[in-house]
Amino acid sequence: MIGGGIVGFSTAYHLAQKGWTDIALVEQGPLFEAGGSTSHAPGLVFQTNGSRTICELAQQTVKLYSSLSLGGQPCFHSVGSMEVAITPQRLEDLKRRHGWATSWGLPSELITPAEAKRRLPLLDDRKILGAYAVPSDGLAKAVRACEAMARSVSGPLTWHARTTVTGFEIASGKLVAIVTDRGRIETNLAILCGGIWGPRVAKLAGVRVPLMPVQHQYVRTSRVKELTGETREVVHPILCNQDRAMYFRQHADCYGVGSYQHEPLLVESEKIRKHEESAMPPASMPFTPEHFVKPWQDACELLPPLRATETREKFNGMFSFTPDGLPVLGESHVGGLWIAEAVWVTHGGGVGKVMAEWLVDGAPSLDLRECDINRFDPHATSPSYVRARGAQQYREVYDVIHPLQQMEQPRPLRTSPFYIRQKELGATFFEGRGWERPQWFASNEKLVTSVMRSKRSGWAAQNWSPIAAAEHLATRDRVAMFDMTPLVRLEVTGRDALTLLQSLSTNQLAKPVGSVVYACFCDARGGVKSDVTITRLAEDHFQVGCNGLPDLAWIRAHIASGADVQVRDITPGTCCVGVWGPRARDLVQPLSADDFSNGGFRYFTARRVHIGEVPVMAQRVSYVGELGWEMYTTSDYGMRLWDLLWRSGQPLGVIAAGRAAFESLRIEKGYRLWGVDMYTDHDPYESGLGFTVKLDKGEFIGRAALAKPRQSRKLCCLTIDDGTVLMGKEPVFAQDRVVGYVTSATYGFAVDRSIAYAYVPVELAREGSIVEVEYFNKRHRATVASDPLYDPKGSKLRN
Ligand code: FAD
Repeated sequence: MIGGGIVGFSTAYHLAQKGWTDIALVEQGPLFEAGGSTSHAPGLVFQTNGSRTICELAQQTVKLYSSLSLGGQPCFHSVGSMEVAITPQRLEDLKRRHGWATSWGLPSELITPAEAKRRLPLLDDRKILGAYAVPSDGLAKAVRACEAMARSVSGPLTWHARTTVTGFEIASGKLVAIVTDRGRIETNLAILCGGIWGPRVAKLAGVRVPLMPVQHQYVRTSRVKELTGETREVVHPILCNQDRAMYFRQHADCYGVGSYQHEPLLVESEKIRKHEESAMPPASMPFTPEHFVKPWQDACELLPPLRATETREKFNGMFSFTPDGLPVLGESHVGGLWIAEAVWVTHGGGVGKVMAEWLVDGAPSLDLRECDINRFDPHATSPSYVRARGAQQYREVYDVIHPLQQMEQPRPLRTSPFYIRQKELGATFFEGRGWERPQWFASNEKLVTSVMRSKRSGWAAQNWSPIAAAEHLATRDRVAMFDMTPLVRLEVTGRDALTLLQSLSTNQLAKPVGSVVYACFCDARGGVKSDVTITRLAEDHFQVGCNGLPDLAWIRAHIASGADVQVRDITPGTCCVGVWGPRARDLVQPLSADDFSNGGFRYFTARRVHIGEVPVMAQRVSYVGELGWEMYTTSDYGMRLWDLLWRSGQPLGVIAAGRAAFESLRIEKGYRLWGVDMYTDHDPYESGLGFTVKLDKGEFIGRAALAKPRQSRKLCCLTIDDGTVLMGKEPVFAQDRVVGYVTSATYGFAVDRSIAYAYVPVELAREGSIVEVEYFNKRHRATVASDPLYDPKGSKLRN
């Protein structure tokens, strides 16, 4: 373990708990107050999060810290929390947060200003509109927890203070030893938990960790008169005023105030001071009073008794912000060098647990897709991107963020060859993994009717346009062109390509050249690691349509030594247009001498053709549920391909359609989206992908687990009786009991229903069952419907 903060000790503790016996932790500073972020974190633990994973990590953390003590002193004070709203927009958002918490099994409540004041008498309840409270939140004593964990596993774990890692020895891409200023440790496994120093240490091994250390202000007041005589460390609930980017905690008879109000103050990892360079802990910087003027006024306004106090013990502490605000976990490209970075104290316990499971059992028990070290596209680890996005994450740490809110900078980063044409058609672009992706096109405005405008309201209508409804129906009625370029595609070639892919896929891939197979990649627990479309282009050549770079890393990690396989990401340099709709054949056939008839080009097959002069790999698949093809070519031919298809489609009323329509089309057709409808927390059977599992095809990862399917819940299709359009992540109730949560939701314009997919217990997953979905604190009746609602027999695809 490199780093003696909360993450290092928590991971070491869990490894020891799981039976490992020879764990050494090295820390450049003293122990246990090492001088990193953990040493000065005031320890507020707010568990609520829109991410199920992050919320679960926090819940596991609270469980762990609550179980620890040192010398009779607790490591967690379960005083509860309150997040107050001083704007109507925040009040609405608190309802959304309450919904998330309910979905993720975290008890919470919405309370009145008077009730908030009753719980925290220092509060001026006239300044707030309401509050959201979580009784199990509280205060972590992080340094104490580090020592408690270390001492409880002191046989298997040794810790070495004032020992700095200065290098790594690597042979054939694998870790061999760690070099420290006090000697060398031979090991084929190290876990870097270096906090804000992470990028600097990882660089010694040639690994990029995309995080930005940012300064953050914390202040302790002098004695608060109203707390005179209070000797208990904390009795008041912890408090957050997100509208002012501030939080508060009690320190016995004083108060602590943290602020994120100021512009981000970035510090390069390379430039962080060493312990010996100053009396100040290296993870803190001199206080900048000019940044605390306004926060202090805001603090006194919310908690008027603070006016009579002075600010003392002021500092700017540093901690890590990644481009998407989430941790960085997993094995780096150097075999044996694992990373656990950008983790808050709030999640430190849970992160240690899942890291240990990952290392000891081969897979974590909780889905970690949002934290995967491999999720970053090449641009996302560049210094300028990490700086820009890290700063923005800091600014937005407490902002009300709509799930489709767009990042503004740096853009545009990646564009498909059709970008110019899309701009000509008035595309509204949303960003995804750096790509500019049309969401809808102003050119289709004329197709919008008043009925389309009426279907969404409130949050569900934000970052949405009724044009998407028009594009949805035009695809169902005629034909549309979708830019599928950003879909990640990998090329897997070589004599052993089939063997490798067979060992990862649930479905049978030993099929003739030209076959397309839809399959899952599962982890050892049978959880869905990804869903993929695998096209056999030659005996030894496959194209894998997948969900991102973690899939590339997963495939590469399973190449047997000496195997003849090459895997490469061909997304950059190629492009794809999806041509879908009942008139798709009429559009494509005139452009090609190849046979696009139903008999000549069967569903789920692929072949190399020419569209006009353009060499294309066409595959007859559809993620929108209509007849059509994905047309792949190299980027140089992209514009020509688009123009040919566009011209040919004019007499048929072709439109360019965006991702908003794509999303509603796929949900209406019941197609699952990985990362939303299923991930490793679900097996293929629960998520409705059991048809991809061929247990009799031979060995593959997850097969043993899938031989005993999980059978307690199922993803099913709900229709919302009053037509309200949801957003996803809402809790589902049956007889007032929380029974599940929504994954995807939309309005299905062809079936004229509000649709939501949700996990519910199998006994409720029957057509006609009645449940309720809570949306912004209001219950809506929903009915389990047939799945899918649109074209259940798939006849539109096969003719
Ligand atoms: P650290 O605690 O920084 O540990 C990393 C360790 O690695 C350091 O001790 C460092 O010395 C060591 N190290 C680095 N390089 C080397 C090397 N080459 N060799 C050996 N050792 C090395 N989080 C919350 O959840 N709630 C809060 O209320 C909260 N408030 C905060 C307030 C402030 C002012 C700050 C600054 C942070 C706050 N945080 C809070 C964030 C939280 O403190 C951090 O996210 C967390 O402590 C990070 O833990 P860590 O173990 O990853 O890093």
